[in-house]
Amino acid sequence: MQLRVYNTLTRKKEELVPIKPGQVGIYSCGPTVYKYAHIGNLRAYVFMDELRRVLEYDGMKVKSVMNITDVGHLVSDADDGEDKMEKSAAETGKSPLEIAAFYTDQFMKDIDALNIKRPTVCPKATDNIPEMIAIVQSLLDKGYAYQTDDGIYFSVEKFADYGKLSGINLKDQRHGARVEVNSFKRHPVDFALWKKAAPNHLQQWDSPWGKGFPGWHIECTAMSRKYLGDVFDIHTGGVDHIPIHHENEIAQAECWLGHKAVNYWMHSEFMLIDGGKMSKSLGNTYTVTDLANRGYDPVVFRYFCLNVQYRQKINFTWEAMDAAKTAYQKLCAQLLAHKNGAAVTEADVLAQFKTKFEQAINDDLNIPLAIGVLWTMLKLPHSKDVYNLALQFDKVFALDFDKIVPVKQQINVPDDVIALAEQRLAARKQKNWALSDALRESIAQKGYAVKDTADGYEITVKQ
Ligand code: AMP
Ligand code: ZN
Repeated sequence: MQLRVYNTLTRKKEELVPIKPGQVGIYSCGPTVYKYAHIGNLRAYVFMDELRRVLEYDGMKVKSVMNITDVGHLVSDADDGEDKMEKSAAETGKSPLEIAAFYTDQFMKDIDALNIKRPTVCPKATDNIPEMIAIVQSLLDKGYAYQTDDGIYFSVEKFADYGKLSGINLKDQRHGARVEVNSFKRHPVDFALWKKAAPNHLQQWDSPWGKGFPGWHIECTAMSRKYLGDVFDIHTGGVDHIPIHHENEIAQAECWLGHKAVNYWMHSEFMLIDGGKMSKSLGNTYTVTDLANRGYDPVVFRYFCLNVQYRQKINFTWEAMDAAKTAYQKLCAQLLAHKNGAAVTEADVLAQFKTKFEQAINDDLNIPLAIGVLWTMLKLPHSKDVYNLALQFDKVFALDFDKIVPVKQQINVPDDVIALAEQRLAARKQKNWALSDALRESIAQKGYAVKDTADGYEITVKQ
């Protein structure tokens, strides 16, 4: 079946026609590794993963590239403030390298826990500095960029199509008060391709313009081109990237190459918390570990995400997580009943459900509708055929349908002990062994022992 996707650039749903038949190249803006990824960030990567899984379900060979931003992402996307890595280094006394290594590792553990397939390639910005310098030099040579006292800037007025992704108008931006004017820039929307570094700046490289570091936008142009070629199929990111980061990527790539670089731009909407913004000051930037500590298996969070189409905002509340947990448990119970069921389901009945499922996923990743198809299918008399088809659907959902097992409770275990065991199970899935051990100890203090089994865990009275 042919996948149709909403292309932010053309503002309509289009058939996805890959450049090379049967193969799709996807570039996704990856994390800036100066802190833990929060659940909003992770929604963007669940979307990246769903896109890949749908394409693979459709028989495409996918090359997925996701960068690791370990330099150059300033506190404001529009080139103001400190570099996020430098700021974190100053706050913790660690080197940017140590910080990047630690949070990259944490990020990979989070995506593993959420069943997000690791991208085919995860290039680090700091490993691609010569590639970035070459593009900046070329943009200077072609007259699209200029040098100032503090760096090399791209001149947005040189690119007639500037604003085509987000619809912003450069004239409004010059007169509008929204964009702060850096006195070095010719136009307030001009953006840094390269920043000259002060001597105390920790991350800096030699360049034809002295020591410095790359701008955030040029990183993605350099790495996408290196791994996917001059023109590639799909570029993804969160909606916040549309007006600055991706607008700038388009401008510099098209001016440098002399042609379009990306065929489809896809953006996932934001996650809200209690209907509002996620922010450190509100203390609501939860991580996967926070969820595990409260007894929510990462796969329940994935289920929660899948219930809202990626172009819609999703509102996180603890009540919604409870509802997702209950629904997921019911789903697993139904699947188990089918796994052990004796009924036989007619092939044409199964085929109808399969078609509905495929129509849903191929309609701009309407995963919520596909989950609805599954729920309806589970109402059929219990049969192994239904379970087997659900397993096929799970190639897209990645909700561990192959791992569901009955909850074992041979003894009357108090709820608080079960909650601790559930938290421990979630911690183990995240490979958070320290937390897992601490929870085992808390369970022991309550007079119980927990044993890991192929099914999950078993609780016994401590001898
Ligand atoms: P960053 O690490 O800040 O570069 O962000 C990583 C990804 O998370 C980007 O694709 C952002 O668009 C996305 N993102 C950031 N905040 C949220 C949020 N609250 N909800 C959904 N996606 C987000
Ligand atoms: Zn990017």
